Amino acid sequence: MGGGIGGLSVALALQRAGFKPVVLEQAPHLAEVGAGLSLSPTAAHALNHLGLHQTLAEKAYHPEDQCVRHYQDARPLVWINRGARLQELYGERYYLIHRADLHDALAAEVRRHDPAAIELDRRCVAIESTSAGVRVDFADGTRRSFDALIGADGSRSIVRHQIFGALEPQYTGYIAWRGLVPMERVPQEILQPASGVFVGPGHLVNRYPVRNRELLNFVAFAERKEWAEEGWSIRSSVEELLEEFRDWTPWVTRFMEQVPPEQLFKWGLFDREPLSQWSKGRVTLLGDAAHPVLPFLGHGAVLAIEDAVVLARAFVESDSIEEAYVRYETGRRERAAFVVQESRRAGKMFHAPDTDTYKERTKGKAADEGLGLFAYNPVTQPI
Ligand SMILES: Cc1cc2nc3c(=O)[nH]c(=O)nc-3n(C[C@H](O)[C@H](O)[C@H](O)COP(=O)(O)OP(=O)(O)OC[C@H]3O[C@@H](n4cnc5c(N)ncnc54)[C@H](O)[C@@H]3O)c2cc1C
Repeated sequence: MGGGIGGLSVALALQRAGFKPVVLEQAPHLAEVGAGLSLSPTAAHALNHLGLHQTLAEKAYHPEDQCVRHYQDARPLVWINRGARLQELYGERYYLIHRADLHDALAAEVRRHDPAAIELDRRCVAIESTSAGVRVDFADGTRRSFDALIGADGSRSIVRHQIFGALEPQYTGYIAWRGLVPMERVPQEILQPASGVFVGPGHLVNRYPVRNRELLNFVAFAERKEWAEEGWSIRSSVEELLEEFRDWTPWVTRFMEQVPPEQLFKWGLFDREPLSQWSKGRVTLLGDAAHPVLPFLGHGAVLAIEDAVVLARAFVESDSIEEAYVRYETGRRERAAFVVQESRRAGKMFHAPDTDTYKERTKGKAADEGLGLFAYNPVTQPI
């Protein structure tokens, strides 16, 4: 259930393992929001395993270096080597990609295996799990039964709600803007290197090129006491964004000034407590439905893609659906919970009031690699 990056990844992983999954997506058209994604070496292992080498090679940007800079004068605080060193250490590199490019490639591969595998306009409103299978009710009044159901329907998952009850969202006190700036509008001297973050008290800006360097993707975080609406796509204005970052270095404000207003959105960040269990009977959860995560380590889609590969492997190695779910959860829950907790910590670390001590606080390491997150391979991880 769900045709996001998690749902399409697990559909493809299952197809490649010889199963015949159906993706049920509520939207009338398949589409991803216009924004970037960072893909760690672990996600690259998974995507290669799913046959997407070419997408990574042709569509993704792989930075040699990233730099953490100071919000006032852009001085480097930490340099992070993301190049050949990662290949040597982890067997893969670090990639940055437009979400729609990855989503399109996954959908095309799923349809190449089975042109009827993705069903659109299929909004699930209720499910019932029995010992024989799972019954799904759709918004149009139709009903279907399946042998098993994977809820990959995002952080506001109806599948999770129906199986485990409500998981109330808590507003975190963070808000964010996202935008895409045509690269020809960005002064080249502020792209040294092109990919990196700027840290300041209560604020964080992450920016990197996507789509063969045609666009500069950015996410800018700030703190607000209150926020009501949960959702990704509230329109904002360049004036509002610049007002929030008014005392920041021109290295940041100069590309913010150039964002086309139709490419600028804002949202409030909501958090949920991790579940202690993801599966019940013939139903399991995957991606944000199972473990919604704050974006400070850029690991939500990474986890969803890793889940997909591990779940398909668990199906291959098990004699029953229930056994597959046990293997899947055993292989994944601890890592997902760790990323959820560390993403919360990373938010506080980036936003800390004392920017000058950033290097000492982080021991000069990248927040993700420094936590050991790259030393994992979903393709070979014992399950
Ligand atoms: C600012 C920001 C930056 C991020 N940056 C990164 C990053 O750099 N790297 C990274 O790895 N992750 C990143 N993430 C996280 C990542 O985007 C998510 O974790 C990931 O997209 C989750 O994928 P998913 O498939 O589980 O869920 P979703 O992408 O939410 O997909 C769920 C799908 O289910 C469908 N659906 C929902 N309800 C129903 C229903 N009732 N019936 C049928 N279909 C339904 C939806 O329409 C949707 O297509 C970021 C997130 C944010 C907010």
